[in-house]
Amino acid sequence: MSKEPVELASNEVIKGNFITHEIEKDLQEGKNGGVVHTRFPPEPNGYLHIGHAKSICLNFGLAQQFNGTTNLRFDDTNPVKEDVEYVDSIMENIKWLGFDWEGEPKYTSDYFGQLYEWAVKIIKRGNAYVDNQSAEEIALQKGTPTTPGSESPYRNRSVEENLELFEKMKSGEFEEGECVLRAKIDMASPNMHLRDPLMYRILKKDHHRTGDKWSIYPMYDYAHGQGDFIEGITHSVCTLEFEVHRPLYNWFLEQVTEGVETKPGILPRQIEFARLNLNYTVMSKRKLLQLVEEKYVSGWDDPRMPTVSGLRRRGYTPDSIRVFADRIGVAKRDGVIDVAVLEHCIREDLNSTTPRVYAVLNPVKMIITNYPEGKVEMMEAINNPEDESMGSREIPFSREIYIEKDDFMIDPPKKFFRLGPGREVRLKNAYIIKCEDYKLDDNGEVTEIYCTCDPDTKSGMEGSKRKVKGTLHWVSVEQSVPAEVRLYDRLFSDENPDGHEGVDFKDFLNTDSLKVLTTAMVEPGLKSAKPLDKFQFQRLGYFCVDKDSREDKLVFNRTVPLRDSWAKKAKKGK
Ligand code: ATP
Ligand code: MG
Repeated sequence: MSKEPVELASNEVIKGNFITHEIEKDLQEGKNGGVVHTRFPPEPNGYLHIGHAKSICLNFGLAQQFNGTTNLRFDDTNPVKEDVEYVDSIMENIKWLGFDWEGEPKYTSDYFGQLYEWAVKIIKRGNAYVDNQSAEEIALQKGTPTTPGSESPYRNRSVEENLELFEKMKSGEFEEGECVLRAKIDMASPNMHLRDPLMYRILKKDHHRTGDKWSIYPMYDYAHGQGDFIEGITHSVCTLEFEVHRPLYNWFLEQVTEGVETKPGILPRQIEFARLNLNYTVMSKRKLLQLVEEKYVSGWDDPRMPTVSGLRRRGYTPDSIRVFADRIGVAKRDGVIDVAVLEHCIREDLNSTTPRVYAVLNPVKMIITNYPEGKVEMMEAINNPEDESMGSREIPFSREIYIEKDDFMIDPPKKFFRLGPGREVRLKNAYIIKCEDYKLDDNGEVTEIYCTCDPDTKSGMEGSKRKVKGTLHWVSVEQSVPAEVRLYDRLFSDENPDGHEGVDFKDFLNTDSLKVLTTAMVEPGLKSAKPLDKFQFQRLGYFCVDKDSREDKLVFNRTVPLRDSWAKKAKKGK
């Protein structure tokens, strides 16, 4: 079969990896009639995070690469933790990432009837039994990886008795915990997952799709492989922790396919890859839920969360996440990716796609004493020097402007190339100015800076070629617009918040992960910016409009600063 590598929007070409090689081999051997069908199987018990995004890009990407299709299947076998809110957010996130699944979304719960029938079949084959022991007793009999387990006293019940008991489990005649259905495999197997694993438990809980129809629910391990089989999935790509479950999945498939006509020879082939771990974050849904419920963050879409919704609100683009997923590749062994790689991907994207605008976060007023009062000059500013097609705009310049407080020092050291008494700097897209004087308040804080401008140095004119060391950004006092700016930083200050025995991961929350500035002034054109619009604030970083932003109360989120300040911190020993 011939195949063309898929071009991503960023013009990055997906490279081959060990999974594509395995799929190629299968195709060359003529397996599955040349079909490639993958799936993304989330459990709807939380929002998707960047690790899931990696899995989505991989599964959908593989299908695209081989002209195949990808199913979305909600593995909804646990009614206790699942919710429609999660189902909706998962679908929205996948679409936002730029992928679309084959047909309608699938649900494992749609297969409950079939799974039940197959369980009956396995009982009839003498390979499953109802166990009346408690969870604790069963756990005690499991043994250890080096010592065999012991058999349940109920293990050799007759097929008839098992069928009758299982039917009663289904019709709700037993209480939760009274009994379970177990596969009868091998209590001495070196693979613990084959020591008579649970197939069904009693749960008298309503399910978000099947309501009160069922009082027994299949275990994930029993349902998962069969779900793939029902859907004709050719390649079940999953994370490494499922490698040891593979013999069990294959065992179940053998049991249920015995004497069954399968889709032309399609038995799902499971291939495992290393899950994505990022430093400076946690990725387990349980821990993320804890952060939300205990209000350490404002919600699942808090811009500091590693969730897809959080990254989106933070200003990440689908392109940047897809490029990241591609760039980190597919590994066979677990490792940790530096979050700086993700940050690099978004910088690279926004650098070429966002307009560069003027915003002053901590303003101090500058008065240009030789500039006429009341005069407003419109200065031309190029939107993005990397991309001429983005054009230019005009920004107002006047006698009174704001610059950043920390761009001025009364007694600057030699290497400070910004403003100080008697020094000259260029105001970007305007004039070269010279500081003549300044005013202090009672606390010694600079409240006003007095300058003169050299009218011959106007940007774009002949005299603008004159060189000075520093260039500052600015906004005009009268025309600028106030804005709230939220400076987000990494949520954890430790590289591995999860990895300290006996210390709670929350102890490593970065106390500086959010600074809210209410002092910022931005150029007037930003007044009409809409939620999720993205900008580079000159010299400061990349910012996007928050979903809470209104024309009369602009709110910007910092996506990332222009440069990685953490690398420096790490070098200095923090
Ligand atoms: P969590 O550990 O965060 O609760 P999960 O594995 O239980 O995640 P699922 O909803 O079962 O969450 O995951 C759906 C798919 O996403 C699975 O195929 C799983 O292997 C994959 N996945 C989950 N986390 C990661 C990760 N960090 N990197 C790559 N793939 C992942
Ligand atoms: Mg899971």
